[in-house]
Amino acid sequence: MNPAVKKHIRFVLEDDNEVMSAGLRGDLDEENKRMNRELIKRHEAILAKLDNGETFSQADLQLIRDANEVHVNDGANLNGHHRQAVKLDRWLDHMMELDKDKAMQILEGWLDKDARTPARVYRALHALWEEATPNDVAAGPVFDDEGRCLKCGSKVAFADVTDTVVFVGDEIVKRYDGDITNRNCVRCNHPKQYSDFAHYDDDGGSTTRANRHQSGTARR
Ligand SMILES: [Zn+2]
Repeated sequence: MNPAVKKHIRFVLEDDNEVMSAGLRGDLDEENKRMNRELIKRHEAILAKLDNGETFSQADLQLIRDANEVHVNDGANLNGHHRQAVKLDRWLDHMMELDKDKAMQILEGWLDKDARTPARVYRALHALWEEATPNDVAAGPVFDDEGRCLKCGSKVAFADVTDTVVFVGDEIVKRYDGDITNRNCVRCNHPKQYSDFAHYDDDGGSTTRANRHQSGTARR
């Protein structure tokens, strides 16, 4: 490990521990004091790993990232460690596992920066995403095959449809029909708006609903 990175990890953990120790001497409530003590211990365990040259777990890296964040955000460099903090943040990017959501976000972010990114590149990215998540929502199915919410049995959902549009200058020259994303049960997620649509659900009986609720829970 780069000695400068190592030194800065030590700094952010020790610095955070100092802040939390001060909190323990102050008027924090018991629950917060307990959390501070817990976190101080976990930071100390990471510092011991640092001394012994042991490998960090993903959870360790996340705690390092959390402790470093205040210095990354310190753009005015009031604490004098902003530059090292940004370097450590980059190093963490390399060390930390990416989940699919995050990977997708990063790639889309970069593609968006270049106005000449062809639509087919986005389509390729979305094809890979769908391959990786067959139910198109990573959290697992939330609607049954008749389109009813597995939690409450309602058929009414709000959904976003993402079309890919090709602009030439200000003009749209082609539109690729998109896929449905972010499909959310209106009754569960937007209860205030549900009354406008409740009549669409009128055919369903409440017994079916209760059964569906149970099977939905069991599947998670
Ligand atoms: Zn629902």
